[in-house]
Amino acid sequence: MNTLTLAHYYTTLDVQAMADYVGDSLELALIAQREKADRIVFAGVKFMAETTKIINPGTQVILPDETSTCSLVTQTDMDALKQWREQYSDHVHVSYINSSAEHKTISDWIVTSRNVDDIIAELYAQGEKVIFSPDRNMGAYLNYQYGYDMPVWNAVCEVHDKFKDEQITYMMDNARAEGNVYLLAHPESPLPVLKQADFVGSTKQMLDWVKDFNGEAHTVFIATEEGLLHNMRQLRADINLQLAPIYSGCQCNACPYMKRNTVELVKKAQQGIGFEINYLDEDTISKAVKPIKRMLAFSKKQMEKNVT
Ligand code: SF4
Repeated sequence: MNTLTLAHYYTTLDVQAMADYVGDSLELALIAQREKADRIVFAGVKFMAETTKIINPGTQVILPDETSTCSLVTQTDMDALKQWREQYSDHVHVSYINSSAEHKTISDWIVTSRNVDDIIAELYAQGEKVIFSPDRNMGAYLNYQYGYDMPVWNAVCEVHDKFKDEQITYMMDNARAEGNVYLLAHPESPLPVLKQADFVGSTKQMLDWVKDFNGEAHTVFIATEEGLLHNMRQLRADINLQLAPIYSGCQCNACPYMKRNTVELVKKAQQGIGFEINYLDEDTISKAVKPIKRMLAFSKKQMEKNVT
């Protein structure tokens, strides 16, 4: 059996080493669409494995740990979301990929943190009215950054929402006494943090920023899941890369759901033992695939444009 293993950047490095491809949500969705495999093991979280199954209904898709979910999914009550969507029936519903399969069935577009700016800009350019779900922080940032007035659903990423601007300001002020300081932040972070960031971007865009950095920096603070820091340090050991401080809890900023992908569970999943995504009915798949394919086609076109 031809098995393909995909791992998200937020999994541990030993799990990433077992994967055929490591990437962010958009990269992994494009790979899942492009590659032909009998079985796909998704070392990530449930909504990612579901997205993979929706794109490849004929492929066996296995999530190593059934409980690897995401707070953006668990904080979204589907009955309430459906009512909210009906309230704005003349709006285009844009949903972040961090959403359940059922959520995707009532969405017009799926976006990732890498293409959300461009897709929403395009919709506004076409004169559409837009609602955005489920990430409150990302929606607030888009409204602030581009002057939109999108109604936004109210759920957060429990990992990125921990960043608080007071602590970050304090750390940055201290480090500034020593030299240039930068802050890179993922748009799932709270708006006050994003307002003071030098760069706001997706996982891949932040990695590229670090890879291509050619200035002088005493410290570059990163406001995202701590796993990405390992990938960044592998790329640029010469830069002092530090996780931005958080305000409470365990004082670590690891996604508990991503870290449930242990080496042992991924090994088992590669042998076909794990949580198989086999519960999505045809109706769900046929409705959910449309907004996902719309997004994948948009991103492919953009990538081709950037190459030519
Ligand atoms: S880091 Fe946040 S958005 Fe990503 S899977 Fe974990 S809880 Fe969800």
